[in-house]
Amino acid sequence: MALFYPTAYKNRITDITLDDLNKRGIRGLLLDVDNTLTTHGSQVLSNEVRDWLTQMQDAGIRLTVVSNAWEWRVAPFAEKIGLRHISLSCKPSPFGFWRGVRRLGLPKAQCAAIGDQVFTDILGANIYGITCFQVMPMDPATDKPFLRVRRRWERKIYENRKGRGE
Ligand SMILES: [Mg+2]
Repeated sequence: MALFYPTAYKNRITDITLDDLNKRGIRGLLLDVDNTLTTHGSQVLSNEVRDWLTQMQDAGIRLTVVSNAWEWRVAPFAEKIGLRHISLSCKPSPFGFWRGVRRLGLPKAQCAAIGDQVFTDILGANIYGITCFQVMPMDPATDKPFLRVRRRWERKIYENRKGRGE
């Protein structure tokens, strides 16, 4: 079950602070798109997320996008935020994260994944063996129907954890 647990939880990606990264020695981030940087399938970039990305980059944090979505969905958003991207990354397979870490040019121990899904982002980061931050889905109502089923399983994991006082 440890594979399903992130290093830390945050409500929104913008709640992740430089202090959170510094104390874990993180210098690079692998960013999920759908329901992490924006709502599912959306190209809208909020001011909060834009400012957060700028703040990270100004502090020298290296960023890249690692998404399971199609190229046509990921590429325009990545371009909008001025980042390189990996689409169809097949999380939880470690391949996309491996490519992302190589691209950031940092040791694996200095990279962290950020995402909203236990069975892709968190599981993948744990399989690959990197720090990971789990955020709550920005707008769960935008999830695709098959995802709602997985969300139910995710909730079971949350409840389990709460029961154990974690
Ligand atoms: Mg996502």
